[in-house]
Amino acid sequence: MYKTMSCGEPRIEHVGESVTLAGWVNRRRDHGGVTFFDLRDREGVVQVVANPEISDESHKKAMDIRQEWVVQVVGTVRQRPEGMENPNLPTGEVEVEVNELAVLNPARTPPFLINEETEVDETVRLKYRYLDLRRERLQRNLELRHKVVKYIRDFLSERGFWEVETPILFKTTPEGARDYLVPSRVHPGEFYALPQSPQQLKQLLMVAGVEKYFQIARCFRDEDQRGDRQPEFTQLDLEMSFVVREDVMVLAEDLFTSMVETIMPEKEVLAKPWPRLTYQEAMDRFGKDNPDLRYGMEIHDLTDLVGECGFKVFEQEVEDGGFVRGINAKGSGSFSRREIDELTEFVKEYGAKGLAYLVVDKGGEHRSPIVKFLDQETVQSIIERLEGEPGDLLLIVAGQPEIVYESLGRLREHLGERLDLIDPDTLAFCWIFDFPYVLWNEDEQRWDPSHHLFTAPLPEDIHLLDTDPGSARGQQYDMVLNGNEVGGGSIRIHERSLQEKAFKLIGLEDEVARERFGHMLEAFEYGTPPHGGIAPGIDRLCMIFAGEPNIREVIAFPKNQAARDVMASAPSVVEGGQLNELHIEVINVPEDDSDIVKTE
Ligand code: ASP
Repeated sequence: MYKTMSCGEPRIEHVGESVTLAGWVNRRRDHGGVTFFDLRDREGVVQVVANPEISDESHKKAMDIRQEWVVQVVGTVRQRPEGMENPNLPTGEVEVEVNELAVLNPARTPPFLINEETEVDETVRLKYRYLDLRRERLQRNLELRHKVVKYIRDFLSERGFWEVETPILFKTTPEGARDYLVPSRVHPGEFYALPQSPQQLKQLLMVAGVEKYFQIARCFRDEDQRGDRQPEFTQLDLEMSFVVREDVMVLAEDLFTSMVETIMPEKEVLAKPWPRLTYQEAMDRFGKDNPDLRYGMEIHDLTDLVGECGFKVFEQEVEDGGFVRGINAKGSGSFSRREIDELTEFVKEYGAKGLAYLVVDKGGEHRSPIVKFLDQETVQSIIERLEGEPGDLLLIVAGQPEIVYESLGRLREHLGERLDLIDPDTLAFCWIFDFPYVLWNEDEQRWDPSHHLFTAPLPEDIHLLDTDPGSARGQQYDMVLNGNEVGGGSIRIHERSLQEKAFKLIGLEDEVARERFGHMLEAFEYGTPPHGGIAPGIDRLCMIFAGEPNIREVIAFPKNQAARDVMASAPSVVEGGQLNELHIEVINVPEDDSDIVKTE
């Protein structure tokens, strides 16, 4: 047996016991003829003492060992001498005196410190991911992720869900990205597509009478590597038959609220039940459809107050169909001119032409470049609408709706951070629903699904698909947490005729639709129950739960931001012979693949 207990376990009640421990050398120091080292494994760290008077041979070996060597210790637990306890260590009251020491494997000096959370270049961390994962931060994240997935499995199994695996080699299952294709050797010239999600398959499981399905599902999307994305990621994929929106939302809400309360009691779910906002309400109050509800600073509309206020800039925007809206950065009236200029530059990045401000003054001497253009009454009504009090900084943007939404939404988030309004231990879940069913794609001159091809429109809006598609709403719901969309779902279409109508609306000709999705259309003719589901993203949820800045920190072996695995050097060039078998020839490779992250 390599160990009788883990390195994190020895406590005062074990004093006098003989134990066998094994792990990695965390730190070593010589002191007064005696050698000390901290031995670490997954569960923690314990101090080990090698005393030549107890075992000369072990002491000699202990003088040789270095950080990250793998060793085994047979020794006796003893109380540390008075004054030598380490209150920061759970095992800090005791130490283990070595009787026998075995080196199981020496180690090269690691490229970065394993025993300290020092800043290390991410490329180096990714190249030596097996060492990075040995560090405490990522070990904690892996453990948390395990607990999240286990909680999901237990919770759903108790409620009668079956976990069903669906194929990875399949046919295009679009979610708005490009497909990853896999060439078939046995069918030259033909390709499988990796699923962007198991969407069609889970719906077919409903046709199959499974009724309650889930899967911890890998999804593959070949997207440009903007922001925090991975080519493959994991969803809790879930589908239920004979349900309406409410059923799916309540189930997901129960699952995640009880999960937080059970495995993360230090976190607080801000509102129970989760707030529900229509898409329009979210846009109007927060400027985005994935709002962070951990703080207020809501956006208020001022358009009706300034349409004829005499101030040209505002009047013109209103005349052109734009909005004038503002937020109140409470208590920020002491911002300097330079600080306000920085905020102006910030909103300009999102298309705003400028940022008007007004610092509320008790005596009416407001600091503001715009008050001189406005009458007293308008100024007063703006202050009232934004609930301005002396010392508040009111910030106002005028422009076309998209620009006002985006710039004020971003400004609100920027100030939320800057003014320290965000409690990292608070989890503000909410639901967004009543999304537009389709969105106009100006480049392609066609309607795109705002969710995906299989989402059903609201029954009362079906007639609009023929007359005014842009006003129809879909039966979609998004799960939002702390300003991130963490899952989307919907009630699906389950009738062939409506599905065909939806395909047509988004420009899929009958023939193409039949060729790509004929199996779905056909299945809908064999008694398909009404059904719906959702797919929360495990990576993003774990990222937020762990308080990490990006999803790579909660994925064991992530790709870098150029979609490469820099540890194994993937993707990589394959031999000609392999390509011949696949009837594939590589052509037109650009010479400059500058995003390649060199691994040596
Ligand atoms: N398949 C959808 C997605 O990946 C989720 C769903 O509708 O259940 O976003």
